[in-house]
Amino acid sequence: MAMTVNRRCLTGLGVGMLVGLIGLVAWVTRADPRDQVDPQRNIILILVDTLRADHVGLYGYEERPTTPSIDRFSRRGRWFENAWSTAPWTTPSIMSLMTSLYPAVHGFNLEGHRYASVVPTLSESIRPLAEVLRTNGYRTMAVTGGGGVGSVYGFDRGFDRFFEPDVVTGEDVKSGVDLALHWLKSVESEQFFLFFHTYEVHLPNTHIIFAEGASTVDQATSAYDSDLAFADQHLGRLFDTLETQGQLNNTLVIITADHGENLHDRILAERPVEHGHHLHDELLSVPLIFVAPGLIPAGEGIPGPVQLTDVMPTILSLAGIDLDGLSLQGTDLRGILQDWAPSLDNRPMFAGAPLQGSSWHSIRTSDAKLMVTPQVNGTNWWNRINQPAEALYLLETDPLERTNVHDSRPEITADLEGILRQQLKANNDRRHELGPVKLVPSENEQMKNLVELGYLEPKEEFESPLQTTAPFDE
Ligand SMILES: [Zn+2]
Repeated sequence: MAMTVNRRCLTGLGVGMLVGLIGLVAWVTRADPRDQVDPQRNIILILVDTLRADHVGLYGYEERPTTPSIDRFSRRGRWFENAWSTAPWTTPSIMSLMTSLYPAVHGFNLEGHRYASVVPTLSESIRPLAEVLRTNGYRTMAVTGGGGVGSVYGFDRGFDRFFEPDVVTGEDVKSGVDLALHWLKSVESEQFFLFFHTYEVHLPNTHIIFAEGASTVDQATSAYDSDLAFADQHLGRLFDTLETQGQLNNTLVIITADHGENLHDRILAERPVEHGHHLHDELLSVPLIFVAPGLIPAGEGIPGPVQLTDVMPTILSLAGIDLDGLSLQGTDLRGILQDWAPSLDNRPMFAGAPLQGSSWHSIRTSDAKLMVTPQVNGTNWWNRINQPAEALYLLETDPLERTNVHDSRPEITADLEGILRQQLKANNDRRHELGPVKLVPSENEQMKNLVELGYLEPKEEFESPLQTTAPFDE
């Protein structure tokens, strides 16, 4: 049942007062839809690593039936048609999801090659989602594929139970769903938060569900789609269990991804299927779906743009947890989901922190996108896109971002530069408030995982120094 109670207010109240309060609350809930929150509801946050939105049926993909389970389940709730990551690879993006902070603020925006010697770890001054929920009485569990979302980075903060495998395989959805269902059974009577993460759609793509294509591009795409369909089948087991056990009406389920995938969209040096190395849309567009029967009305997509930083404040708001005192950069989307607040049209979306470095930035509106890239002196060890220092794309006529019109549209460039500079200054100020980023020496095993996942080259190859200038940084 939806109620409007700040759980912290309940402490110390007698039972009689509590009953009276619930009665009052039920009355208030009927009176004002803006008070529709549910402090009793369980929460499941599902992150399908490397899932680009335009390969999900719900988002219009028609080539192959990749996501029948996700599509069917999602129609019980609402989804954002324009959802954007803050970074094109796992670690900085998921940290933004879990903290509602941009990479420059939470600090996971190192140059890729620096991860070979040090790794950032979540600052004590930052309160991640799981920690806030645990403080509010939730039993917290995470089932992850490890690697870039491992405990070494502090992703385990706030979790009572945190599973990460010793070796990252990229084939983990079946075992992960098995473990999640086992854990859910063990906490049947407790309110819980489950974070479920799988690398199944990430390389290597191993399942063959759809016919392998004739061309190299077709082969890569059908392999990606096959792994996605395999992941979808197993996520379907999770959805079915929630329904058959009657838990869905008391659960908020969020489905999203950390970044997309380059499926031959652009010429990369040696890896036409990869991510992490630029800020074009195919790496930043992700699905974002909220299902919560009785709390969020069913059945419609929402057009206005949103970012992964918006997820944490929205979850907390739906759970009736006060956002005051939390250092969040995202926006509470509850009113949009519940239809009493307008969609946030043409709000600028920001991204950064690709593996090439912390000084790459993009700003995107519905009409235009500006990408700022520091000049790289020396070998750009992976991506040979030859990105200019600044590139402007007009998205209405050039949605695939092929034609740089930076020099011919200085007025649009100047507008976007101005907004981007303000955002970078705000990030810088927030970072100073939170204190320095904590860096710890990296462990060999961790680096091995990142090499296995394709994020890092074997050491002898990635040590060539990248000398960069940073035209947009302070
Ligand atoms: Zn990822």
